[in-house]
Amino acid sequence: MTGHHNDPTYRRNAAIIRQRTRADHAAGRPVWCIGCGRDIAPTQTWDVGHRIDAARGGTHNLDNLGPQHRGENRRAGGRLGAQRTNNTNGTSRASRGLPTW
Ligand SMILES: [Zn+2]
Repeated sequence: MTGHHNDPTYRRNAAIIRQRTRADHAAGRPVWCIGCGRDIAPTQTWDVGHRIDAARGGTHNLDNLGPQHRGENRRAGGRLGAQRTNNTNGTSRASRGLPTW
C-alpha cells in the first residue's frame, strides 16, 4: 500500500466511483471491473482501482479510476492479472493497444 489513497483528488473521485457503482448495482445495471474486464456482481466485493496504476503515472482523475474486484488492485490484478502479466511480460493493456476501460 502506498500513501496515494490519502490524496484529496483520489478521495474525492473514489467517492464518486463508489457512489456510481452502488447506484448501478442498486439499479441492476452491469458493472465492469477495470482490472479483469469482467462483471462485478452485486454480491462481490470491490474497491476503487486505477486503470493505469499511480506508480506508472496514472492520475487520480475520474477517467483513470473505476470499480475493481477487491484484491486485484492490491497486487497487479490478482491471479488473473498475474497470469496476464506473466503472459505479456508486464505490459499494460494500454501499451498493448487494448482499451483501458
Ligand atoms: Zn476483476
